[in-house]
Amino acid sequence: EAIDLPTKIMAVGIADFAVNHLDSTGPVDISSWVYPEDRVKGFHDFALAKEVIPFFEKLISPFPFRKLANVQSKTTFGGLENAGAIFYAEDMITGERTGESTIVHEIAHQWFGDMATEADFSHLWLSEGFATYLTMYFMEKKYGVDSANSLLVGDREEVNTFASKKLRPIVDSSVKSYMELLNANSYQKASWVLHMLRQETGDDAFWKGIQLYYKTYAGKNAVTADFQKIMESVSGKNLNQFFYQWFYVAGQPKLDISYTYNPQKKQVTVTVSQLQPALFHFPLELMAYGRPGTNSVKSIKLNIKQKTTVVNLPVDFEPIRVNVDEHTKLLYDGQHVARKL
Ligand SMILES: [Zn+2]
Repeated sequence: EAIDLPTKIMAVGIADFAVNHLDSTGPVDISSWVYPEDRVKGFHDFALAKEVIPFFEKLISPFPFRKLANVQSKTTFGGLENAGAIFYAEDMITGERTGESTIVHEIAHQWFGDMATEADFSHLWLSEGFATYLTMYFMEKKYGVDSANSLLVGDREEVNTFASKKLRPIVDSSVKSYMELLNANSYQKASWVLHMLRQETGDDAFWKGIQLYYKTYAGKNAVTADFQKIMESVSGKNLNQFFYQWFYVAGQPKLDISYTYNPQKKQVTVTVSQLQPALFHFPLELMAYGRPGTNSVKSIKLNIKQKTTVVNLPVDFEPIRVNVDEHTKLLYDGQHVARKL
């Protein structure tokens, strides 16, 4: 999916670059190319590559190419993942590594997007969703789960906003223009689906599957069904419903959740309704809290399949608040949980 830049821009640029070879002794020649006036800031920002490349090499496989040049440029994209040479918007260079997530995203593309590529634009998420989720995972490992979760919450809002304007599935064969697919479905929603798949299969099988998918399709093209087969083979699970609903159905669960409390029976009744047209199957985690100062808390795990699910649960306290998905595991749309009398 590399997009050629006009050669005159590249030629003019090359004459004006300050170049820093970060590591030319190892198997990969990593270099930074920046405008001379941004030399100090740019070399500092792009030196992140020395941290990012080993991270993904350990996670996925050795770097696919002999060299990686990170290049400050006049691209109109935030970043452009040409194989072995990534072009970044010139104003991304700040000297404070504010472009960290862009750098991680573009480097992740060297494996997914450049080396293992989608066979057809409608499966663009195999590049963009992977790069987005691998960036999220890098952040999780570097800054902790809470930081990653707050990124996921932001992405979830973007997905819901996008769906409220344009309700299309991730794999959207009706779209004929590549540019139109550079949207929240291909990036944030697909990243979220990978996040949920990781929970569905468990961490070990998930990363084993990502490695095997890469190994199988490096230098080749794949579609979503190819990835599904790999994930089923490593997890031993039938993932038909999972892949169908998340990749081929538009939207995500829109939930209406409420509860009542019966003090005589010491029982809470939770009602979960799916408001969107196509029903999804998914695990849902709720957390019920007692009065402030009591430390009473109960975790409620439900498997939702029906339009409306009603469950009665024993509790030894009066729940005054119920939170949804506190551990950021589900892509959904919904308001706060209402207590009904
Ligand atoms: Zn990308």
